[in-house]
Amino acid sequence: AKRAGRNRYRFFEPAMTLAAQARMALEMALRPALARAEFELHYQPRIDLRTMNVVGIEALIRWNSADLGRVSPGELIAIAEETGLILPIGRWVLNEACRQTRGLIDRHGRTIRVSVNVSARQLAQPGFVDEVRAALADTGLPADCLEVELTESALIEDIPRTAAMLDELRALGVKLAVDDFGTGYSGLAYLRRFHIDVLKLDRSFVLQADGRISAFDFIKAFVDMAHALKLSVVAEGVETAEVLDFLRAADCDEVQGYLMARPMPLLALEAWLVAATEG
Ligand code: C2E
Ligand code: CA
Ligand code: CA
Ligand code: CA
Repeated sequence: AKRAGRNRYRFFEPAMTLAAQARMALEMALRPALARAEFELHYQPRIDLRTMNVVGIEALIRWNSADLGRVSPGELIAIAEETGLILPIGRWVLNEACRQTRGLIDRHGRTIRVSVNVSARQLAQPGFVDEVRAALADTGLPADCLEVELTESALIEDIPRTAAMLDELRALGVKLAVDDFGTGYSGLAYLRRFHIDVLKLDRSFVLQADGRISAFDFIKAFVDMAHALKLSVVAEGVETAEVLDFLRAADCDEVQGYLMARPMPLLALEAWLVAATEG
């Protein structure tokens, strides 16, 4: 049995080594990426479904690696979480998003809220609330112009501790959103343990795997329930006018997606905002 095990190991070794090498290459490229200023934030507008006005923007990280070229945010975040590099990278994202949004507000003379994705590892650090407080103080961004997006998995880790932390953030004036809703535990009940402002419905919640839109009554009942819990509902990944009309009929509050605008660099976003306000 022992020999068979060893043979099996030998057989799979080359493939495993390749996967490990790819992962290692990513990690090696990621370590100096912050110092080399290889990250950039793109921003995707979030739109009020009744007025079609822009109400906010979501900051999304982009990595153009000197060694590897463009790396997908999904891959980058996964390696960053595994290695713990998400802590310095997440801090950079938070500060950069606050700084750039403060600049945007100053130049355009209108209020806009920025949403920042925060991973479970970041939220689990004891100093996270202080980090947020410092980012606001250093950049001068008003607290109510910042929203923190958390996933369900980050919330359920240590519920009493997380609930206390979220209350501290809320006391600062920061808004709280649950991201990717519908991909994980998908209950509304546990959300009553936290003071959340916004529920972001994952694309897969509204659009099924076969591309068809979910049952109207189901989505409508869900939105009504969220409203009863004083949550505002944002739908992500809206790509067609058909989905937009469906969401409007279902009484959804806000939308984000390629139909309205893709995530874009700050300068492009500023031009887009000016055009959107004039039009
Ligand atoms: P997410 O937070 O759910 O962000 C939404 C993703 O959907 C983004 O992918 C966005 O570009 C994409 N998207 C927007 N509109 C549409 C649409 O109409 N159709 C489709 N198919 N997709 C759309 P992106 O930028 O590749 O980011 C992937 C994920 O990486 C994010 O998902 C988030 O979980 C994570 N991420 C990105 N930036 C950060 C960050 O700064 N910190 C952390 N912790 N995670 C981040
Ligand atoms: Ca998000
Ligand atoms: Ca999401
Ligand atoms: Ca997602």
